[in-house]
Amino acid sequence: MTQVDIAGLTKRYGGTLALDGVALQARDGELVSLLGPSGCGKTTTLRCIAGFLTPDGGEIRVDGQDIVALPPQKRDFGVVFQNYALFPHLTVFQNVAYGLQVRRIAPAEQQKRVAEALALVRLTGLESRLPRALSGGQQQRVALARALVIRPRLLLLDEPLANLDARLRDEVRWLIREVQQQAGITAFYVTHDQAEAMALSDRVAVMKGGRVVQFATPREIYQRP
Ligand code: ADP
Ligand code: ADP
Repeated sequence: MTQVDIAGLTKRYGGTLALDGVALQARDGELVSLLGPSGCGKTTTLRCIAGFLTPDGGEIRVDGQDIVALPPQKRDFGVVFQNYALFPHLTVFQNVAYGLQVRRIAPAEQQKRVAEALALVRLTGLESRLPRALSGGQQQRVALARALVIRPRLLLLDEPLANLDARLRDEVRWLIREVQQQAGITAFYVTHDQAEAMALSDRVAVMKGGRVVQFATPREIYQRP
């Protein structure tokens, strides 16, 4: 059960006002896309939610609690970036288990949870491979497994398909949606691709100039003249 309520979020980089009062919500189990052109503030918003950036103003409530002062490791969110950022010298198993090791989960439980996460992303059997021996799509699925293995309260995805070719993009896109829905995880998904946002989301937050200018379901957005 994770609901998110963001209000009045502001963020400056020096003289640049990157976020100018971002407001949006996600209900339990919803996938909400942040859609808009380059520079509109999507990544900055996501990084504020993840805890990699501290906003200058506003609040980010997760199940009613303002998390702005919570460090990233206490937020228990799963994060997937466009460049998979796997550890190149670690195997698939070790990459996925990393977040569990850091949390000092017992080895037997690690084995069980990694197996579950790899099954979800359909990579069972590839535990011993190194990232370089995998396709881009497979690497991104490892990154997804690594985000899911900690059983996150929230899944944060920043252009996770950007580095994949068209065929793999389809495959990973539907896998993300399937896993997100099956697990019932509330998710934010950053993209500049309108078709992708429309196909994947429960609701779309259209951003422009550091603000959310439209927040509606894909159906409502299509029906608007
Ligand atoms: P998007 O993800 O929609 O492309 P960003 O959140 O990356 O947008 O950027 C929002 C604005 O903030 C842009 O004007 C961008 O140039 C600026 N910006 C982003 N990151 C930095 C940074 N580290 N330093 C200075 N300006 C930044
Ligand atoms: P995205 O497409 O995800 O917004 P960008 O390619 O715009 O990413 O930015 C890549 C990196 O450069 C990010 O870390 C972002 O914070 C930083 N960045 C973006 N705009 C600026 C800027 N105007 N000045 C300094 N850093 C920036």
